[in-house]
Amino acid sequence: MNVDQLPSALTSFSSMENIIGRRRIGFFLDFDGTLAPITSHPDLADLPAESRPILENLQQRHLVCVLSGRSLPDLKRRVGLSGLFYAGDHGYRISGPPGSGLDLRLGDEFRNDLESAGRRLRDALGSTHGVVLEMKELSLSVHYRLAGMKDEALIGKVVKEVAAGYPSLRVTAGKCVHELRPKLDWGKGDALLWIVSHLGCSREELCPVVIGDDLTDEDMFEAAAGWGVCVIVGAARRSTSAAFRLINTEEVADFLTTTGRMIRVEAAGGNPRENERS
Ligand SMILES: [Mg+2]
Repeated sequence: MNVDQLPSALTSFSSMENIIGRRRIGFFLDFDGTLAPITSHPDLADLPAESRPILENLQQRHLVCVLSGRSLPDLKRRVGLSGLFYAGDHGYRISGPPGSGLDLRLGDEFRNDLESAGRRLRDALGSTHGVVLEMKELSLSVHYRLAGMKDEALIGKVVKEVAAGYPSLRVTAGKCVHELRPKLDWGKGDALLWIVSHLGCSREELCPVVIGDDLTDEDMFEAAAGWGVCVIVGAARRSTSAAFRLINTEEVADFLTTTGRMIRVEAAGGNPRENERS
């Protein structure tokens, strides 16, 4: 369905309750454009101060995972909460809280090609105004938000030409970003499923609540389709596998606050979910 036809998640709690049923909830949250407002330069993005206590509150009763195209160390530093699960580099790196035993590293064999492609991109685009190259552990981002619209097509062409020299890599697109990633059949959706299965949770026990704003988040929506609650953020004019919508990061914060509060009230009132969620 198209994004603009979806009902607001803020007014759909009863239909979400029907989907969740008696299961525990696990939150799977994108970072940029979902928890943190999009900024002109990727280095400027940060978790709003008021969102950190919201996530802290959620993590006390629920599985909370933040999944991003950012590198794992960068993502952990920006969120700054040790009790969460993190998936960085589009899910090639996964790390659980201390003691969880969850740790995944995929695709180290692609690093030489990524670094080589990064050098070629730096040579080709390093002097192009407004282009920001971000080399991560297992992916490489070419941000062009600050570049003029007239250079947009040229930048895309250069990225594709460089990528063509590396059969082990593929190009994906996001909001004002091209990314080079290993040609592995693995994305954020696989990371979500990996975490759920490594925690020993079945679909009858755990309901993923997935929130994201970009094309790579469609991976997660598809992985959770039919058993989870999927929420897209923003007003993109495209089709999506999500079933609900939030307008911006402020609405995401409101939604997470309300969800946490709603569940606490029910648990305090002796709701049958209480035992399952504690
Ligand atoms: Mg995003």
